[in-house]
Amino acid sequence: MDINEVNFYGKYIKKRYGGRIQKITIDANFTCPNRDGSKGVGGCTYCNNKSFGTATRLNDLKIKDQLQSGFDYSVGRYKNVVGYFAYFQSYSNTYAPLSELKKIYNEALEVDKITGLVVGTRPDCIDREKLAYFENLTKDYEVVIEYGIESIYDETLERINRGHDYQCFVDAIDMTKGRGIKICAHIIIGFPWETKEQWIETAKAMSKLSIDYLKIHQLHVVKNTLMANEYMVKPFKLLNKEEYIDVLIEFLEHLRPSIVIQRLFGSASKELTVSPFWPETTFDLNNELIRKMKERDTYQGRLYPKNNLN
Ligand code: SF4
Repeated sequence: MDINEVNFYGKYIKKRYGGRIQKITIDANFTCPNRDGSKGVGGCTYCNNKSFGTATRLNDLKIKDQLQSGFDYSVGRYKNVVGYFAYFQSYSNTYAPLSELKKIYNEALEVDKITGLVVGTRPDCIDREKLAYFENLTKDYEVVIEYGIESIYDETLERINRGHDYQCFVDAIDMTKGRGIKICAHIIIGFPWETKEQWIETAKAMSKLSIDYLKIHQLHVVKNTLMANEYMVKPFKLLNKEEYIDVLIEFLEHLRPSIVIQRLFGSASKELTVSPFWPETTFDLNNELIRKMKERDTYQGRLYPKNNLN
């Protein structure tokens, strides 16, 4: 496989499509079972309530308008755009009856320039019927389902109030694989009660699953969250930038090289961040990571078992 230090998404997409695929973020006004009381209330402890918009009825959505403003925004800003994916990012975007989902996603796909869908959701908000719908779409479009898991440890999932366990995530991946749907997982590194050894085990666990893409970010406490309240009452240890980059390097060394990395650093504005705030851009943070990996003569998958490579 032709990778250097990290199998980055941008490079992978360019190789696959010959240019840039622009994601346009859509807020389809879903909610989440962890907020509406069906699984819990208050949401995951790190989740910023401010990111939740006001409730709007699903059939009032103007997805086409959101897409159009995304196209307008990207004109002249990005070079060599060869396609657009509608990115349903906020909330749990499969948390509605299939008939509602069809209305929403079909509306996005009716827009000519849209060549794919990215659907962010929770592993407990998917079933075979919904997956069959997305599978059918893969005949004509790229479809990516992005599952939040955050940690492979049930103790952590309980402490952060996820409302589901790790097995639920594994089951969702098993249900999704083999359908032509690309699978992305999302994890957080840095929960203060987890250890470096546990993060390495997380890399090994992700490597074994049928995932195509991975998004990782450091634990940072943002305002208007349950975690911010906990932090104010009793501050806890958060990884600083150097510590996080060191952990990331080891994590990546154990990660299957074919997993495409979509993100390695989370970002929030200074106004929203309680701790830690890193002023560098993602571009600069990625460069710092790569520089250190070069210095150490290492790369993604260096410690991934060779006999697992195919
Ligand atoms: S992080 Fe996701 S699952 Fe958790 S409360 Fe926020 S939207 Fe819901």
